Amino acid sequence: MGGNSLLERTLDSRLAPIYRKVVAGQRLTFDDGVTLMTHPSLFAVGQLANLARRMRVGDRVYFNNNAHINYSNVCAIHCKFCAFGQSRRSSKAYTLTIEQIVAKAREAVAKGATELHMVGGLHPDLPWEWYPEMLRAVKAACPGAHLKCFTAIELIHFTRISGLTLEQVLLTLKEAGLGSIPGGGAEIFAPRVREAICKPKETAEEWLHVHDTAHRLGLRSNATMLYGTVETPEERVDHLVRLREQQDRSGGFQAFIPLRFHPENTNLGHLPGPTGYDDLRVIAVGRLMLDNFPHIKSYWIASSPAIAQVSLHFGANDIDGTVREEKIYHMAGARTAQYTELQQLLRMIWEAGRIPAERNTVYEVIREYPAEPDPDLVAAGAIRGYTVETVHLSRAERAMAEGRFHPGGRRGRPVPVQFLDEQQTGGAGERTAEGRA
Ligand code: SF4
Repeated sequence: MGGNSLLERTLDSRLAPIYRKVVAGQRLTFDDGVTLMTHPSLFAVGQLANLARRMRVGDRVYFNNNAHINYSNVCAIHCKFCAFGQSRRSSKAYTLTIEQIVAKAREAVAKGATELHMVGGLHPDLPWEWYPEMLRAVKAACPGAHLKCFTAIELIHFTRISGLTLEQVLLTLKEAGLGSIPGGGAEIFAPRVREAICKPKETAEEWLHVHDTAHRLGLRSNATMLYGTVETPEERVDHLVRLREQQDRSGGFQAFIPLRFHPENTNLGHLPGPTGYDDLRVIAVGRLMLDNFPHIKSYWIASSPAIAQVSLHFGANDIDGTVREEKIYHMAGARTAQYTELQQLLRMIWEAGRIPAERNTVYEVIREYPAEPDPDLVAAGAIRGYTVETVHLSRAERAMAEGRFHPGGRRGRPVPVQFLDEQQTGGAGERTAEGRA
């Protein structure tokens, strides 16, 4: 072993063989996955995942400017883990009109969104024709936006209400503007867990078949895993192995996105929910097991911006986007903001020592940022939230930033730091970005 001395010192006899496989680019086995999922040193597992991330995809961290439009929460079935779906008689039930959806789409695109992520419940009354009509209306209003819409169970629902085959449904939606499909609904593939948390939903085989079909029709997709309900470590690893096998067959998955279970307002409210250790563990093991997935996404809406940022050192290379108006997690008690400013995402990535890149839905880079905050952008106030505290200046650097001290008697270049609150209010005082909440 060589070149990773800190990592090597943390390895024991269970992790050392896995380390050798990672370095050699060899596939990990199911048993390796269980070892990683249960090993007492999360730090060592994270180090291995960080190494795999570095070897496979480098230091770039992707994000996108996107908006979620949950067109309706009315759902004909009830999954125990879900706080979003409502019966049509519920006082919380809503269904947007196509005009309202178009207005939301226009507003998001006007603010820079390049992707519209649209999912909903299994509406018992909306006819099949409504869905392609809705996509056509959004596409006509926002021709440049990528429409990432409808989870596997929604697509299966469409086959039932239309009488069409899955291929016909997907081709009709594609013709209407569908660009790709999201990864939701996978939950955990193990039948025991599905029985306990989402009995009426599609089976694992059906979920995989939908994605297989989409890939063969040229639609890319993502894959998720809901963690923190009643699954065992072995069932998590089984889920990852099945995703890996599917990717070997059809190759259209772009990102793996672990989704944290939020118990509040669900029929599983008695469960404690996952911990921060779980959040980081599933990211790390996902990176290590899914050797054929280019991207591991840390979904900050579900886990929190803080966990998402730390996960960049546990194998993640994508931090999702500037999600607006997310409802699914917020109806289950998520306390995260519903919109993260671009500047905040940049700050999270830079602080983690990574290189931000804004992407579109299919991971083409729209804008590459420098490895460090661009001083001119900071000085111009374009990168907000960078204060003396957040860039960790020493006392001398701080004095330089304030123009009070120039080392070595020479006029050093001041570190260009702007204080947002001073800039906006004209007032004095040094506050952190967090103080602006
Ligand atoms: S998870 Fe989806 S299918 Fe299940 S109840 Fe919620 S909205 Fe309906």
